[in-house]
Amino acid sequence: MRLVTLDGPVLGGIIGDSVVALRPALAAAQRAAGEAPADIIPDDMVALISNEATMVAAGRALAFAARAENAALRAPLSEARLLAPLKPGKILGVGRNYGDHAKEAGGPKLEMPKIFLKPTSSVVGPGAAVHIPAAVKKADWEVELGVVIGRRARNVAEGVALDHVAGYTVLDDISAREFQFDVPLPMTSFAKGMDGFCPMGPCIATADEVGEPWALDIRCWLNGEEVQHGNTRDLIFPVATLIAFLSRYMTLEPGDVIATGTPAGVGHFRDPPRYLKPGDRLRMEVERVGVLEHSIA
Ligand code: ZN
Repeated sequence: MRLVTLDGPVLGGIIGDSVVALRPALAAAQRAAGEAPADIIPDDMVALISNEATMVAAGRALAFAARAENAALRAPLSEARLLAPLKPGKILGVGRNYGDHAKEAGGPKLEMPKIFLKPTSSVVGPGAAVHIPAAVKKADWEVELGVVIGRRARNVAEGVALDHVAGYTVLDDISAREFQFDVPLPMTSFAKGMDGFCPMGPCIATADEVGEPWALDIRCWLNGEEVQHGNTRDLIFPVATLIAFLSRYMTLEPGDVIATGTPAGVGHFRDPPRYLKPGDRLRMEVERVGVLEHSIA
C-alpha cells in the first residue's frame, strides 16, 4: 500500500494516478458485502500503521476502490492536497552513512552510526515551499530514505529489526551548513532542525510494497538537473543495523522515523559550493517508495 494523509486530515491511499479516501472506501466495501458498517479507520497515520486490524481494513478499502466499477471512490492524485504522511514522534538522523558521501565529507571512519535528532516541528508535506531563515546562507539538500517504525522496538536483534518497520518514505534532510562546518563545534541538530527543514512524503510505502531495503536507487534533481544518485546498497550502516543499534539506547515507537543518510552530491562539497535559493525546485526519488517534490520560497 501507498498510504497518504490528505488535507482534512483524512487518511488515504494511492492507486496508480488516483487517490482514495480510506474511510468511505471501507464503508462502500462493507455495504457491498452486506456487512454492518464498522468505521475503524482513524484520522491519524500513526494510529493506522500501529494497528494490524486497521492496516487490514485499509488494504481491503484500497482493493475495493481499485475495482473498475468503483471509479467513483477514486480522485485524481494530481488534484489532491497531500500533507506529510505522518506526524513523527521523533526523527532520528544518521550522518555520513553512504560511502561516497562520507568520502566527500572527509573525517575518520565511523565505528558506529553518527546520530542526531530532527524536531518534528521541521516536518512539512510534499509540495511545500520551504522558507529558509534569512540569517541562513548555506542551506543544502539531502535526499534520504526515511524508515517509518510500525511496531515498538527495544533491544531488537538485527535479524528481526525489519519486522518493526511499517514502511518507507522520502525526505529532504535540509541542513544549514554554517552550523555544521563554520562553528568551533558542530551544531548538527540545530543545523538540520529549523522550521520546514524536513519535507517528507508523498506517501508511506508499506514494507510489503517495497520489499527489503537493501538495494533501492535514490536520486535528487535540483531545477531538473540530477545532483545526487546513490543506492541503499552503499549504506555503511543498513536499515536493520540502524534499528538494532538505536533500540539498544532508546525505544523506537510507532510513528518514529529514521532518516538514514544521504549519498554524495550535496551542495556544500561541490566546487564551487552550491546552496539553496528562493525559487529552487527539488525532486527526490527513492525507488519503489515514491517521488517527493518541494520548492524553496
Ligand atoms: Zn542527512
